[in-house]
Amino acid sequence: MSAKIRVCVRKRPLNNKEFHRGEKDIATVSGRLLAIDEPKVRLDMTKYIERHKFAFDEVFDADATNEDVYRKTAYPLVQYLFEGGKATCFAYGQTGSGKTYTMLDQKQGLYVLAARDIFVKLRSPENSHLGVFIGFYEIYQGQLHDLLNNRKKLHARSTNANADSSRSHAIMQLVLKNRATKSIEGKLSFIDLAGSERGADRGETDVKTRMEGAEINKSLLALKECIRALDQDKKHTPFRQSKLTQVLKDSFVGNSRTCMVATISPNNSNSEHTLNTLRYADRVK
Ligand code: ADP
Ligand code: MG
Repeated sequence: MSAKIRVCVRKRPLNNKEFHRGEKDIATVSGRLLAIDEPKVRLDMTKYIERHKFAFDEVFDADATNEDVYRKTAYPLVQYLFEGGKATCFAYGQTGSGKTYTMLDQKQGLYVLAARDIFVKLRSPENSHLGVFIGFYEIYQGQLHDLLNNRKKLHARSTNANADSSRSHAIMQLVLKNRATKSIEGKLSFIDLAGSERGADRGETDVKTRMEGAEINKSLLALKECIRALDQDKKHTPFRQSKLTQVLKDSFVGNSRTCMVATISPNNSNSEHTLNTLRYADRVK
């Protein structure tokens, strides 16, 4: 794996509801290794456990704080931003696994922690020519919505009962620009992806949900392809395949860096989604 791509996994704690339902924590972290004990039933109805093992650049156990995660994921990207680099940090995972908690929590999400460090760095004299610009976008059904510069349009769409964070990608960008020339000197994007399970919404659901699912599936596949193209220094990056990858196109070329944080739920009833998330993350690296 090249230094350009880091793939990390974060396990959230078992919550009260899961605990009171008697669910088990099936995810065991030891160092960079992660084991999932999947409950299975044989044809003759006897139950057994299948153990799946994975290794990643970093695995964060349930007691890791956002500050711990930040140090090993986004912080190196902040350093890179000040070297003029472009970088992206994604949260990928099932709805309820901790993507928004990790990326966009307003007090301690990775983007807030990154913004804090960026503002500190901007105070030093060698960076006095730089300013930071913030962008906040949402991609829903292949359409990009600028949440900071187009509030009215957003409001019109927000009143739509179907606009749901599990079905849209949220993008928070911190862009360094030269104050005088306005040229871009570095860019760091934080992405809170649509729920990975949504990409599998098929037959049993209504047409609208299926269309949303197809769009999400397409964008998550395109994302994987673009990260792999970056990793392998391919000449052709297939970023045109989805709105998500089009928006991030300058982060998939040259010396750009990417860090993926795959978030997982620890409870046994989510084992299938958890394994899907880990297989996706495994293929990215
Ligand atoms: P997602 O964005 O993937 O749908 P959320 O970030 O909204 O999931 O997390 C679901 C719930 O779990 C929220 O109530 C959140 O506060 C909680 N949660 C997620 N990750 C953690 C964590 N690492 N530690 C404590 N609580 C967490
Ligand atoms: Mg969320």
